[in-house]
Amino acid sequence: MAEDVFKKLVAHCKEYGYVFQSSEIYDGLGAVYDYGQNGVGLKNNIKKYWWDSMVMHHENVVGIDSAIFMHPTTWKASGHVDAFNDPLIDNKDSKKRYRADVLIEEQLAKIEAKIDKEIEKAKKRFGDSFDEEQFKTTNPRVLNNQEKWDALHKRFSDALNDNNLEELKQIIVDEEIACPISGTKNWTDVRQFNLMFATEMGSTADGAQKIYLRPETAQGIFVNYLNVQKTGRMKLPFGIAQIGKAFRNEIVARQFIFRMREFEQMEMQFFVKPGTELDWFEKWKTTRMSWHQALGFGEENYRFHKHEKLAHYANAAVDVEYKFPFGFKEVEGIHSRTDFDLSQHQEYSGKKIQYYDPEEGKSYVPYVVETSIGVDRMFLQVMAASYREEEIEDANGKKDTRVVLTLPPVLAPVKLAVLPLVKKDGLPEKAREIIDDLKFDFNCQYDEKDSIGKRYRRMDAIGTPFCVTIDHQTMEDNTVTIRYRDTMEQDRVEISKLHGIIAEAVSMKGIFAKLK
Ligand code: ATP
Repeated sequence: MAEDVFKKLVAHCKEYGYVFQSSEIYDGLGAVYDYGQNGVGLKNNIKKYWWDSMVMHHENVVGIDSAIFMHPTTWKASGHVDAFNDPLIDNKDSKKRYRADVLIEEQLAKIEAKIDKEIEKAKKRFGDSFDEEQFKTTNPRVLNNQEKWDALHKRFSDALNDNNLEELKQIIVDEEIACPISGTKNWTDVRQFNLMFATEMGSTADGAQKIYLRPETAQGIFVNYLNVQKTGRMKLPFGIAQIGKAFRNEIVARQFIFRMREFEQMEMQFFVKPGTELDWFEKWKTTRMSWHQALGFGEENYRFHKHEKLAHYANAAVDVEYKFPFGFKEVEGIHSRTDFDLSQHQEYSGKKIQYYDPEEGKSYVPYVVETSIGVDRMFLQVMAASYREEEIEDANGKKDTRVVLTLPPVLAPVKLAVLPLVKKDGLPEKAREIIDDLKFDFNCQYDEKDSIGKRYRRMDAIGTPFCVTIDHQTMEDNTVTIRYRDTMEQDRVEISKLHGIIAEAVSMKGIFAKLK
């Protein structure tokens, strides 16, 4: 059922100019996508929401924009050349490739789903008297599944932590995990696969240099730490934020824009005094969760997920997960990265990368807390939360359905549509006048084709929060009807009031006020 909705959402993204497959006329390129005329608007608004909340609202967070190409030693120092790997496994019959860790994670999710189903069933059966905690600790089927989950989870974490590829394979065999395509359990061994794309810079005659397309934006921040700290006269604690493209040669790229080979990240590295990093980690966890929840998609749809395996340099890490139609999945990572990155760059570059602390009277390498979110995954979160098929009644009481994107008005790519009821009697000219008055503040769209009902539906489908209709009465008394997307209610208002009504609904101020 949820998978069904997801398929419809993907089709909707294409039909209404949100997301297209890259180079579609050539049958597309795996896991690469383009944003259409409406998608780019939504994407820009998401980036603005993030950027302003980070850079504008924090006196001690500044932004940069570093290059995609970096000196190749960067990736040696960061550990990406040696260890930015995913464990892959092939099914010999379907010839399909999978990430071994993802296959096991999906197995864990299946057990979890069984537990949730038991609880749901019992909730219905017992009604108000249901005690979930008691049920979970006493029901034999739940206990049995919980035991299975715990055992598998422990085995899986141990294998990841020990980098034990044979054990990962053995888990897949023991759990009898089958390939969803061929249905068989005929697997190859698990191998490591580096995710970085490499290319060459300079002509071969000059001795071309192998360089990488950055797999994360964070390293562009670390190598600029000294530049920003000195030129901005920054004092600890302070942060550097950046939005930019990243590239990963993902083994399996499924689920639309959830996992892409070219994507965009919004990352912020927060530099702190050693010893204070875990307090800052907790603070950023709260701040980032409130940023997500302020959009109003329901608190129950978010959770923190602790990492099974801490990277060797991290001393704390969680993911913010959102409940997508295909289950809870990561949208953002918050990591306490210690002084690993700056120390590595200090060692590999031979330059002193430290902070002089005037209070302590000594220099040290700062510690770092990172928040890292994918623009595209955030985009998918917003679309999944907003896509709705509704049963409605038309003016004559006839049943109908409508597809509506209930995008938060601050993020909607088109804020209002201006629609002359008919294409004559000066109504189109009046509509243009209104647009000319509002277009410097809001993205407006003019539409005069088809019946007014059809035009409303088109606007519902792209998530436009307001439709303004010009009719003959407008010509007499300068009033229009304004229709609200979510309730479909209509009000008659003076043209001079439009700016105020729309400005209040689409301003980021309201949402910023909710942030912690
Ligand atoms: P995953 O486990 O899903 O591969 P990750 O833990 O490797 O993700 P990070 O390296 O922590 O991801 O990257 C930070 C954020 O960047 C992720 O939370 C996600 O939103 C985004 N991101 C990472 N890889 C991709 C991708 N291939 N496509 C789209 N977004 C991505």
